[in-house]
Amino acid sequence: MRSPEALVNVVTTDLGAITRGRPVVESRLEKIARSGVGWVPANLSITPFNSIADPNPWGSTGDLRLIPDLGARFRTAGTGAATPFDMVAADIVELDGTPWLGCSRTLLKDALADLKAQAGLSMIAAVEQEFRVFDAGFGAAHAFSIGAMRRADPFCPALVAALEEAGVEPEMILAEYGNEQFEITHAPADALAAADRAVAIREITRETARVMGWRASFAPKTALTEVGNGVHIPFSFADAGGRPATYDALGPGGLSRQAGAFCAGVLRHLSAITVLTAASVPSYYRLKPHNWSSSYTWLAERDREASLRICPTVTIGGRDRASQYNIEFRVADATANPYLSLAAIVRAGLEGMRAGLPAPPLVSGDPTLMSDAERDALGLVRLPQSLPEALEAFLSDKTVTGWFHPLLVETFDGIKRHEIARLASLDESAVCDLYGTIF
Ligand code: GLU
Ligand code: MG
Repeated sequence: MRSPEALVNVVTTDLGAITRGRPVVESRLEKIARSGVGWVPANLSITPFNSIADPNPWGSTGDLRLIPDLGARFRTAGTGAATPFDMVAADIVELDGTPWLGCSRTLLKDALADLKAQAGLSMIAAVEQEFRVFDAGFGAAHAFSIGAMRRADPFCPALVAALEEAGVEPEMILAEYGNEQFEITHAPADALAAADRAVAIREITRETARVMGWRASFAPKTALTEVGNGVHIPFSFADAGGRPATYDALGPGGLSRQAGAFCAGVLRHLSAITVLTAASVPSYYRLKPHNWSSSYTWLAERDREASLRICPTVTIGGRDRASQYNIEFRVADATANPYLSLAAIVRAGLEGMRAGLPAPPLVSGDPTLMSDAERDALGLVRLPQSLPEALEAFLSDKTVTGWFHPLLVETFDGIKRHEIARLASLDESAVCDLYGTIF
């Protein structure tokens, strides 16, 4: 048999957070980076259930191009598959190269460009992802234990090696608190690269598990009784000279004036953007109090129930705080498109900066134990508690929908309505089972 032709997957991640694309023969990749491969507008209305939301604004007409960004190629022979894993993130453009309104990667690029133009800041981010492994036949093991890591051997070291080779700069893999649950993190990078890495990490993790005969699921809840799989997005800012711009020793909780206004904007629009960052029916089984996820519009120092958590800084050995200082967005999961999640965070933060909002109050304590008056005084609002509520909150915040082309809003709305209708006859446990197989 001839050796197999090397194929590179030119991919885009869609509104349902599924990464799709076209494989191309590697020798043609350079050429394709100039003029792209074909793509179809109606693909944006494909749901995670392999159906097309109907009605949708696209129909059977029209053509687009996927232009691979050769700087966002992730290749590794380390997943154990017969041929290397090879994907390159692409932007969707019109046939004349104009950016397409439905490209979430372009939406993030544009939001980051506006952050730079309007506030003089770049965003550095990471996407920390939790997942659960199925079908591995593990015996019982304690949370965070050596046993929980070793029973999976060689999965963790193999995955880290594959991610290292792919260039995502994995930082840590750990056996998490939940049963068969792991978490994988990567080194902070420019926010666009962080979203690219998030996609590559999901796919490489799934493939490494698949090759071992297992299944890795990033679904937000794989069973009602299980700990949720969160996506946590720590971020910070750098000024035009590359200096850290998030920290100010004199600011509340150490927030710089710009970072404080950014956080205020995120919290102001958080209920409306939640459907973009926690985008599925089971997302709302996770976003509940006392789950270490998030349930209120809440900024706090080092509290894992907050929606915006000021992360710890280490001062051992006199280490500088400013360069470590991060704020973590915790209202996300892997049923959301990471480009869209980050774009929404940046757009909301920019609104806060433009309005010159003061930093939100730092909350300590448990919002569920506060009176309505106490919560009101701190600006604590309960996040949407279901996908329909979250969709409604999105559609009724005209500032938020105004960040996107109306056709994109219509498409997103159509997909989410389809998802809600598709699941109407399932109980919560069946929903968890279904998402566990899709994500
Ligand atoms: N599993 C939790 C979540 O659903 C997060 C636990 C942690 O802080 O790592 O977000
Ligand atoms: Mg974790």
